[in-house]
Amino acid sequence: MPPKVQFTREDGLYHSFCGLVSVGWLYQKIKDSFFLILGTHTCAHLLQNTLGVMIFARPRFAVSLLEEADLSSSQPQIADQIAEIKREHKPSVIFLLSSCTPEVMKVEFEGLAHSVSTPEVPVLFVPASGLDFTFSQSEDSVLQALLPFCPVAPPEDKRIVFLGSVNDAIADDFALEAARLGLPVAGFLPANHFHELPPIGPGTVIAPLQPFLPKAANLLANERGATVLSSLFPFGPDGCRNFWEELAAHFGVKVDLAEREAAAWERIKEHTELLRGKKVFFAADTLLELPLARFLRAAGAEVIECSTPYINRRFHARELERLDGVRLVEQANFERQLRSIAEEQPDLVISNIITANPLIGRGVVAKWGTEFIFSPIHGWAGVNTLVGLFTKSMRRHARLDPLGLDPVWTAGVMPSAPGDVIPLTQG
Ligand code: SF4
Repeated sequence: MPPKVQFTREDGLYHSFCGLVSVGWLYQKIKDSFFLILGTHTCAHLLQNTLGVMIFARPRFAVSLLEEADLSSSQPQIADQIAEIKREHKPSVIFLLSSCTPEVMKVEFEGLAHSVSTPEVPVLFVPASGLDFTFSQSEDSVLQALLPFCPVAPPEDKRIVFLGSVNDAIADDFALEAARLGLPVAGFLPANHFHELPPIGPGTVIAPLQPFLPKAANLLANERGATVLSSLFPFGPDGCRNFWEELAAHFGVKVDLAEREAAAWERIKEHTELLRGKKVFFAADTLLELPLARFLRAAGAEVIECSTPYINRRFHARELERLDGVRLVEQANFERQLRSIAEEQPDLVISNIITANPLIGRGVVAKWGTEFIFSPIHGWAGVNTLVGLFTKSMRRHARLDPLGLDPVWTAGVMPSAPGDVIPLTQG
């Protein structure tokens, strides 16, 4: 039964980055894939600016630009582009991503993908538009599209499938740790190549590595009868210990990783001493917020608010248990958050891309939440990187302190420009 931890739903923006951004890590992870986005110049600018890939680097993603003529045709034509992609990049699988404009135009994406798909090179529809998805959620859509291509494992095949894309070094660390504990591994979803997808069946234990994949996990349970591990996510010493102990228990292996956890905390003591007692405010939109806040709390920080775009009571159950007593907010209202930040004066704000720099400009110690998505912070191997991301901003701010960049807060107000102080409700 999911816990009854209370959270508030406000009326703020769902996200600051849309689902297309997940292409940035997924095209690198699935090395024989191609991502085609049916979109507008806005989508093309987003990808070019956020992913910063030069044209001559021949990245394995592209935007098929909708032109005026497409507005009057029943379905956009992409057959020529698909042929060119196959000729130039020779992918094993092509993902066709939706975006806002064609969704408003009611383009029938399933049919469009089907019309250009072949058994040799499937074209899979992936819902990813900014209307519905924050950027990390599109990985959930990609994994759902891949699921039919995972071989069916027989019931007696009892092995682990790690769910969620992590870089190769972190994936190796998880495979090694499983071997060390004597746990059998079938593979990773997504795999590095389309034809290496792991077999999944009723004996499979799905071990989610990312907290933004509830739909794929649910589908694996419903359609393949797999068991989804319900533990903390493997972030930080506390999360890793719980993750591996509970995963081992599924295979009848009893392990006590208390010493391993203590050693990991000891290794990052220099960081946790800096974090202890500090007030941290999560205002980001990556969907990593719950496990990161739980880790910081275990590290001795005081989490005064944890906002996130979406909370799933079942998938996030164990994280919610550990956050009992923290102010939890879904789709936070930014005006209210600014007032709270001004009143509560956190020592560190984990913010989204829109607000990080303005907050820093005001002297608030703010960290861009997206950096956590693109950093190797999972598992035992990721503990130092994870804690370092939190303390780096605080150390940097401490170095800048002599320049007089401390925030100019008074209760309930926030400066609008250096020297100005106005009520937040007017800002
Ligand atoms: Fe903007 Fe929508 Fe395109 Fe994302 S999908 S870049 S939100 S227009």
